[in-house]
Amino acid sequence: MDLESDIQMNLQNIQERIQRACLQVGRDPAEIRLLLATKTVPLSKIDIAIQEGYALLGENKVQEALAKFGSRLNDAHIERHFIGHVQTNKVNQVLRFATCIQSVDRLKLAQKLDNRLRNEGRTLDVYVQVNTSQEESKFGIIPDRALSLMEAINGMEGLHLKGLMTIGLFSRDADKVRACFQTLRMLKDEAVYAHLLDEENYVLSMGMSHDLEIAIEEGANLIRVGTAIFGKRKYDDTYYWNENLDVQ
Ligand SMILES: *Cc1c(COP(=O)(O)O)cnc(C)c1O
Repeated sequence: MDLESDIQMNLQNIQERIQRACLQVGRDPAEIRLLLATKTVPLSKIDIAIQEGYALLGENKVQEALAKFGSRLNDAHIERHFIGHVQTNKVNQVLRFATCIQSVDRLKLAQKLDNRLRNEGRTLDVYVQVNTSQEESKFGIIPDRALSLMEAINGMEGLHLKGLMTIGLFSRDADKVRACFQTLRMLKDEAVYAHLLDEENYVLSMGMSHDLEIAIEEGANLIRVGTAIFGKRKYDDTYYWNENLDVQ
């Protein structure tokens, strides 16, 4: 089978998984947005999915993202989310790429983004990334501090806080994975209560190739899928998620 029909079939398969998960809990599949996690995936492959009508993409590394999308950064119909760790000294570059940053996880980063955006006279949608698994190897603010970061961002002119993002624990124990997603959902509820997120329009970004069903059952309305669409990556994900291994 060729690459094109592989990717088309994988996308179809993800849609079926979304539908089944929604059926389980009585949700409408139309509520769930699918973000293509495209790290390491060449543009030629990404274009196959774009041709199928998918326009929400997520990248993890600034240099890779800019190199890949270089000439295409003005394609207005493509939403380019940044879902990787943002180094404070790469703020200008990430702002060249992203139409939304899902991985804001510390005050200093939010302040730098806000400063730069105000200088440019524009605003950007952001989500706060929460480390719900309490693993040291993952980025994200700890749940106890998430609301105060959201409050601070709420006061920034350049940033529009739209949602929360997390990476679930990697575990065969579905209950432990579920607990991560429940933590994020509860934080969302608190944020809505505190008027930090819009009750009708918040984004709960959680769930990946291996755990999207659990995330949908727990209220995700944006899932981020890479491997199950584009195939296995040659790098281990710790390469993207662990500061110490950040060789960029
Ligand atoms: C790579 C990545 C994904 C997608 O993971 P898969 O297991 O390939 O589906 C989702 N979110 C983030 C933050 C990622 O880095």
